Amino acid sequence: MNVFWGNMALPEGFGAEVNIPLSELTSFRIGGNAKVVLHPHSYNAIRDAVTFAAQNGIPLALLGKGTNILASDRGFGGFVLRFDTPLHEPVYRGTTVIACCGTSLTALARETVRHGLMGLERLCGIPGTVGGACAMNAGAYGGEIKQVLVRIRVLKDGRDRWIDVRDCDLGYRRSAFSFPSCIALEAEFSLRHDDGTAAQTIQTCMDKRREKQPLELPSAGSTFKRPEGHFAGALIEQCGLKGFTIGGAQVSEKHAGFIVNVGGATEADVSSLIAYVQRVVLERTGVSLEPEIKRI
Ligand SMILES: Cc1cc2nc3c(=O)[nH]c(=O)nc-3n(C[C@H](O)[C@H](O)[C@H](O)COP(=O)(O)OP(=O)(O)OC[C@H]3O[C@@H](n4cnc5c(N)ncnc54)[C@H](O)[C@@H]3O)c2cc1C
Repeated sequence: MNVFWGNMALPEGFGAEVNIPLSELTSFRIGGNAKVVLHPHSYNAIRDAVTFAAQNGIPLALLGKGTNILASDRGFGGFVLRFDTPLHEPVYRGTTVIACCGTSLTALARETVRHGLMGLERLCGIPGTVGGACAMNAGAYGGEIKQVLVRIRVLKDGRDRWIDVRDCDLGYRRSAFSFPSCIALEAEFSLRHDDGTAAQTIQTCMDKRREKQPLELPSAGSTFKRPEGHFAGALIEQCGLKGFTIGGAQVSEKHAGFIVNVGGATEADVSSLIAYVQRVVLERTGVSLEPEIKRI
């Protein structure tokens, strides 16, 4: 399908949709319309979209599965590049696996275990893509993407190249591979042979998620980063904020570290609630909470 921006036809190589609510593209179920949503069919198409947007002054946003995103109520008046579908199957070489960044992280974790490998099992259940996980240095239950990520293929400054991650700065929920500084295309993981515990670890982690997290309501996962020496959820609960609600946004009654959308929440509701929680927690505990979620 040819899609036009004004009178300019977009490069080919995409599925394209126009005026799509960001609430349909994000796990928070919040956000106004994205003017154009592009689903790339190849790595070259991703490069072409970036070039086309830059040359024509079109705002560009990148989404994986949208599970760590608070989208604006006003929507996004440019291209949303949605890289949430694998462009190829994972490639296995011994204990090394190379995956497309559009692959579901949970699907990859399960598949590597079926291949007799371990290393990603604690990350199973994180609902985003491999690219989103690399961008965020995602982690859970003592596992972190940086423990197994060895190389990453990125599109940066118009160049498509592999980078050794040992040369890169990956910190807590932070990496050098996050849009807009670059787009992660493929990731190479160094895993090890399963010692027979990987499937059980997956089961245990999934059970803990179901038990502790408000998976029945829309959210973007943990709202705040873990402050040094504390847990955000525990501090928020200690301040009596569990269940505190502004509009459709609520501090989860199940896990105070999550803000959930209990129905019709807007970005403004969530932003007000974040600011309120930060203020109360700082006043009562002296700890400053930094949001983990990203905005469009
Ligand atoms: C119920 C629930 C539980 C969660 N549990 C966890 C958890 O245990 N641990 C954890 O770390 N997170 C958790 N999250 C948050 C989220 O799933 C992770 O941050 C995930 O890695 C985001 O992946 P995504 O594909 O959804 O990225 P998105 O949310 O779409 O994007 C997040 C950021 O990464 C950028 N990005 C996405 N893809 C790429 C790419 N290919 N190249 C460069 N930048 C990119 C985006 O531009 C954006 O800035 C949870 C979320 C939910 C809703």
